[in-house]
Amino acid sequence: MTRKHILVLNSGSSSVKYRLLSMGEEPAKGAEAGEAVRLASGTVERIGEAGSPVADHGQALRAVADELERVGFGLDSEELIAIGHRVVHGGTAFTEPTLITDRVVEKIKKLVPLAPLHNPANVEGIQVARRLRPDLPQVGVFDTAFHCTIPEAAATYAIDRATAERYGIRRYGFHGTSHAYVSREAARLADRPDPNVIVLHLGNGASVSAVAAGRCVETSMGMTPLEGLVMGTRSGDVDPGVLVHLRREARMRTEEVDGLLNRRSGLLGLCGDNDMRAVERRVAEGDPDAELALSVYCHRIRKYVGAYYAVLGTVDVIAFTAGVGENSALVRERALAGLEALGIALDPGLNAAGKGLISADGSRVKVAVIPTDEELEIARQTLEVVSRNGRG
Ligand code: AMP
Repeated sequence: MTRKHILVLNSGSSSVKYRLLSMGEEPAKGAEAGEAVRLASGTVERIGEAGSPVADHGQALRAVADELERVGFGLDSEELIAIGHRVVHGGTAFTEPTLITDRVVEKIKKLVPLAPLHNPANVEGIQVARRLRPDLPQVGVFDTAFHCTIPEAAATYAIDRATAERYGIRRYGFHGTSHAYVSREAARLADRPDPNVIVLHLGNGASVSAVAAGRCVETSMGMTPLEGLVMGTRSGDVDPGVLVHLRREARMRTEEVDGLLNRRSGLLGLCGDNDMRAVERRVAEGDPDAELALSVYCHRIRKYVGAYYAVLGTVDVIAFTAGVGENSALVRERALAGLEALGIALDPGLNAAGKGLISADGSRVKVAVIPTDEELEIARQTLEVVSRNGRG
């Protein structure tokens, strides 16, 4: 059996995360990829920071290449068949993983105004990787793509249509790679084919999606990753009138409003800690600020679960994933307590253990903890694209 290696790169503004995976045999159409084995992984950090040895993304990828060389899988290895890149914003232009060409790079650059913090670094990573291995297929896997199936009713903001169209204002959704992976894993747990699934991705960023028969029909992040759930440092939903008020009354500049909502809100803004572990410790000690932060956080999740239950009509599986979702029994318990009338009941012992199914025996809706794996999903989608293009 020939092993096919895929390098996954997640290029952020100040870090590059990488993982080299051996993908096994080419999957049959519609089937799962063969068993994947992790050969190497890591993060190059502090790119471009003062005093850092890594001046730019070019040096960062050099460091990745050196590290791969050191463990015996240099970038020039024949087994390496493709590089998969995480790209945050695909706008309406990219609805599926895409083989990178000059034109694709130009299109991703055009989307920078929609994701000014993320897309420039993603493009940088792609360009450096293409310079290092110009002959190798490279694939962009977009965070927004899984959500391209949400119906117009869910994707459209009720504002003047001409203005919305002119500025690309609509709901795109993010964390799509994680929602795709986890919803597929969750669907296996259901008792019927084409189940309805709610995925709660609760990490430093947090989002929820409603997935019907494998297609995303609703998601909580919108034009930007600011909408929806309460996050580590992001507010999630606020009345848009608050922004107008802050501009008019507090005379805040655009950058200040941006900083307030993206970096000084969420758990951090409410209690001074953005790490749920610290919040939980303080709650246990009876700290009222941490208690408020946790209850706002869990209330928001509960509200979305109810809303998405109604959007789907019926729910078969609710899946928790990412740092908080996978590790915080307290958040899971508080978010879903008292929903027996909706057929949702946790088993306290299973919830505390926090692996696989955590719902009670008689719970009509299955609740599960499913660790996400965005790198594996990117590698699978990359392999699919290169196989389809006959390049693998
Ligand atoms: P992620 O973005 O998926 O890496 O999630 C990171 C977040 O997960 C951290 O900021 C913590 O708030 C949270 N987290 C990680 N481990 C735990 C834990 N054992 N209990 C509660 N929260 C956790």
